[in-house]
Amino acid sequence: MKVPFIDIARHEEGFRSAWSDKVARMTAETQFMGGAEVKALEDQLSTYCGTSFAVSCANGTDAIQLALRALGVGRDDVVLVPNATFWATFEAVVNVNAIPVTVDISLTDGGIDLAAFEEAIEAEKPKAAIVAHLYGWGTNALTALRALCLERGVQLIEDGAQAFGVTHDNAPIYAGALISTVSFYPAKVLGAAGDAGAVLTNDAELATRVRRLSNHGRTEHYGFGDVGWNSRMDSLQAAYLNLSFDHIDARIASRRAAADEYRRLLPALGIVPMAAPPSYGENGYCNVCLIEDAAQKTRIEDVLRTKEIGFGNIYPGTIASQAGAKPYLKAHYGGDNGDRLSRSVLNLPLFAYITQREIASVVEALSEALDARGAA
Ligand SMILES: *Cc1c(COP(=O)(O)O)cnc(C)c1O
Repeated sequence: MKVPFIDIARHEEGFRSAWSDKVARMTAETQFMGGAEVKALEDQLSTYCGTSFAVSCANGTDAIQLALRALGVGRDDVVLVPNATFWATFEAVVNVNAIPVTVDISLTDGGIDLAAFEEAIEAEKPKAAIVAHLYGWGTNALTALRALCLERGVQLIEDGAQAFGVTHDNAPIYAGALISTVSFYPAKVLGAAGDAGAVLTNDAELATRVRRLSNHGRTEHYGFGDVGWNSRMDSLQAAYLNLSFDHIDARIASRRAAADEYRRLLPALGIVPMAAPPSYGENGYCNVCLIEDAAQKTRIEDVLRTKEIGFGNIYPGTIASQAGAKPYLKAHYGGDNGDRLSRSVLNLPLFAYITQREIASVVEALSEALDARGAA
């Protein structure tokens, strides 16, 4: 059967009518900016994420820029970024006029290569570093990484765009970060009805700075203590997210079950999906298979296309290999695991409420593609 790579239209019973009612009421009240929905969302976020403060903003990319600016990162400051992440992680550094340096990643969990990271700190003396928690968990080295940054005076930003609901040592992953960011892009684990994001921190001063920067540097309505920009989350996005919050546990449980199902079924085909390190509770954001045999990978992708089964390659190219990186990238530390990941990564359909039948169809198609090799 046909299986989409992602389907975000599988709303819970009653969700759409609750949303329509809310839109009608908020429209009648012209409740479009700030107000009760935004306040309620920020309260829910800080509770759920285990942080003292949650500041809503326009999107996950702005959230990273806000975090960088709040930490005082600006012109000519060096910032380390992983070589395998979404482009926004790199972009945010360039957009605050800082100098990005890439660091290789680990093929075990997709996180930063700690040895290369340490080498880069020694050589570059960065003011800050960003790591990205990809695929639904974080790096195995998270505790060591945070301690290293603290010890060397490197301000660590954790790009948690994909990590909503992830736990580390039984606490929300965001709770132990100096400052972390989240994206509510519709396809993320907690998705809005458009663009939205947030910055999370336990530091009151950082939270105040983020809030000020996200609202034109305002100190009062027509008083400006800084040059920020407009990165406010609108009230309708907050309302949609508040409604979605009621279902977040069920959505994450469904994603996790699907991720587990793939891990149960795929090894028999000789494919072992990447897994969260043992200290994590994953959120089931993404399935990750590494298929190093290029011919085999092509054959699998051809079969999936023929059977109209969606798949992803997250990400098909490293940061350092992008044409847009060339004018800005100062250096790269570590090896080429990022490139190896880009060449071999295959992501199978995974989203909240995917059915067992759909997963079985995906596995069946893979099995067929691998059998074809035996027959050839
Ligand atoms: C989605 C994503 C972003 C950007 O978030 P937007 O809300 O789309 O701006 C940044 N980093 C990572 C790792 C992401 O997955």
